[in-house]
Amino acid sequence: MPALAFLDNSSLRSGGGAPLPLRAMTSSPAAPAAAIAADHALAHLLASQAGQLLVDLRAKLHAEGVEGKELKDAGDMAAHNHLMEALRTERPNDAVLSEEGKDDKARLDAERTWIIDPLDGTREFSEPPRDDWAVHVALVIDGQPVAGAVALPAQGITLSTHTKRLAPGAPGDPLRFVASRTRPGPSADLLVDHLGATMIPMGSAGAKTMAVVQGRADIYAHTGGQYEWDSCAPVAVANAAGLHTSRIDGSPLVYNNDDVYLPDLLVCRTELADQVLTILANLADA
Ligand SMILES: [Mg+2]
Repeated sequence: MPALAFLDNSSLRSGGGAPLPLRAMTSSPAAPAAAIAADHALAHLLASQAGQLLVDLRAKLHAEGVEGKELKDAGDMAAHNHLMEALRTERPNDAVLSEEGKDDKARLDAERTWIIDPLDGTREFSEPPRDDWAVHVALVIDGQPVAGAVALPAQGITLSTHTKRLAPGAPGDPLRFVASRTRPGPSADLLVDHLGATMIPMGSAGAKTMAVVQGRADIYAHTGGQYEWDSCAPVAVANAAGLHTSRIDGSPLVYNNDDVYLPDLLVCRTELADQVLTILANLADA
């Protein structure tokens, strides 16, 4: 596939951000700052492209009567293959960890590792017209997600470190938290009891984190088990939006580990972080 194929973003909405600067798309090892700037744009573009591919694929297969596991698998593979080929073309020297690929441990020695979830919320993807599913693309350097994008393709938007800083607006009254629609977990009960918060059930870690980034929720806490690709790109975007991100014990999230299990996550408005972490500490005491 020609490299230029990845530079055509004319049909994609950028979630409020500036147009992608195409001349900045080429990474230069001699200029690290400029290289990272190009990575923001690339993450945004690749997530958007894979998202559009998934929207089109779901519409086509749904019309043909394809559903359930067959639809899920088709989505996972199509987005994975697209992103892997794009990254091979655009960033041939970087390592990649994908939920849908073999884990090449050479990434542990790599300076730059892309961590991708080609389709986050596969269950929701397979239930049209649900729109709470996402594409995650993030770049990790020294354990930190330094660039990232979360496409919400069925909502027609991509939020990323390339977009301008988002202002979440005023907090909800009562506070609103997003939790897994299938496994809200014990943290949900605690937040209802101690904050009087309203729960918004939703699929996809990316969609839930973006609900906080967009100001449609105030807190996202997860305790039910996750892997690095579930939270990496969402955390990159949440950090860029000025939100609090951490493990639920308040410790930092670190990526590109040998064991990619990263079971819990807190994303919230910064002014709520201390209060929420204190409440969640009851989980450890329970
Ligand atoms: Mg996935």
